[in-house]
Amino acid sequence: MEQIKNFIGGQLIDSKSNRTSSVFNPAIGQAIRQVALSTADETKHAIESAHLAFNEWSKTSPLKRARILFRFKSLLEENRDRLARLISEEHGKIYSDAIGELTRGLEVVEFACGIPHLQKGEHSANVGSGVDSHSLMQPLGVCVGITPFNFPAMVPMWMFPLALATGNTFVLKPSEKDPSLSIELAKLLQQAGLPDGIFNVVQGDKETVDILLTDPRVQAVSFVGSTPVAEYVYATASAHGKRCQALGGAKNHSILMPDADMDMAVNAIVGAAFGAAGERCMALSVVLAVGDEIADQLVERLQQHIGQMSVGSGITEGKENDMGPVISEQHKAKICDYIRSGVDQGARLLVDGRGYQVAGHERGYFVGPTLFDYVTPDMKIYKEEIFGPVLVIVRVPDYGTALQLVNHHEYGNGAAIFTRDGEVARQFGEDVQSGMVGINIPIPVPMAFHSFGGWKRSIFGPLNVHGNDGVRFYTRMKTITSRWPASVRLEHHDSHFVMPTME
Ligand code: NAD
Repeated sequence: MEQIKNFIGGQLIDSKSNRTSSVFNPAIGQAIRQVALSTADETKHAIESAHLAFNEWSKTSPLKRARILFRFKSLLEENRDRLARLISEEHGKIYSDAIGELTRGLEVVEFACGIPHLQKGEHSANVGSGVDSHSLMQPLGVCVGITPFNFPAMVPMWMFPLALATGNTFVLKPSEKDPSLSIELAKLLQQAGLPDGIFNVVQGDKETVDILLTDPRVQAVSFVGSTPVAEYVYATASAHGKRCQALGGAKNHSILMPDADMDMAVNAIVGAAFGAAGERCMALSVVLAVGDEIADQLVERLQQHIGQMSVGSGITEGKENDMGPVISEQHKAKICDYIRSGVDQGARLLVDGRGYQVAGHERGYFVGPTLFDYVTPDMKIYKEEIFGPVLVIVRVPDYGTALQLVNHHEYGNGAAIFTRDGEVARQFGEDVQSGMVGINIPIPVPMAFHSFGGWKRSIFGPLNVHGNDGVRFYTRMKTITSRWPASVRLEHHDSHFVMPTME
């Protein structure tokens, strides 16, 4: 069986590790590749390779770095179909969703192509008599990206385009569940002209991550994954003196107001709840329906929509399915446990996705769209991230109660409101405790030139990914204040012993 390699110093390298993990095609429930869980020496080799490449790359002009990224962008476009099929094969998401993921990643590359402008720093003339000040935004050194299974192309591309554009070198540790994309991205970067050693991929699991988090040559860590691991990564990297941004899990709420455009809202909710089988950190997994009347209408329409959904393989000849399988057998079992707990705790199960069978794919990891009504905030299916195609409806009497629920939840990644009332919408934008907010937009993922990140336990660290925060994360500011003595002859008795004020 094919073994997915490491990519270190510009070379594809077979791992010597005796620890491996199977990579499955979740639509057929079969292992299709193996990935080695790299040894400590292999992980250190990747760090060393990035460390050695840093000096020269950091001094390469931003324009030259941008030109490589321009070529990388073109190569991504040329290879889009092949890459989308590979994403769908290992992750399970439908082909057009994989194309969408690649497009969102590509947009960060496009943003990073503007680095000569973004990394200019600041300058002030005459901050004192004959004194000027300017700032440099310098790269940090070796940066690390640790990424989740659900966006094997997009999430790495939230990180490395800006890290490389700003003059850093990079080690990517992708998810061991769908690692092939990482190698394809590395090969395309090399084809685009990126010198060897600047971008490296090391396959592995926690053991690999622990080396990356503690090695003194690593300067910064970007992590995206579940909240317990994000918290661990942030604490460990910070304790070892590294800059860290760690994005975690979510439970994204939407408030459905009685005046909402129901056609628009229902279409949006169905797509955002069940797209990618709910395996998105911005999936909409809770609807707070304000008033029984709107809740009853919502439930009726959702049931109709769900009844028309097609679930199956992510790649089909002819008409595409709406939703593919979930990532693994274990994850499927976990989602089914959540559904069982919802029933046990008294929620009303209106559509049950357990036992879903897809003809010709009997061993695939399918869970059908699942809908619960009369969910209450004490239930496990409300409190925890399920990360599957399960939508829960909580009935609330008024907007105030709905807002309080959103704000009291542990997570604060995204939140949305469906309403025609501008005053309520504006107030929601002001008051909601969430990092990304949608007004009649179900998945408010910011564009590449804005920054992506949640609040509360959906993120650890002060800076979000991409946009201006991304540039700040991968650079360190240095401010130089200078006076050239030719015009000012300093005499010995000109020494000053008070705090300089430039007055
Ligand atoms: P995960 O936390 O299991 O794994 C993420 C990465 O961490 C992987 O590379 C994995 O190998 C590594 N890892 C796993 N356990 C580890 C440990 N104990 N110590 C060190 N490293 C470890 O997450 P996942 O299941 O791959 O992805 C799904 C999760 O990611 C969901 O919770 C989802 O909400 C979250 N996510 C968040 C965002 C966001 O922007 N906030 C985006 C995408 C996914």
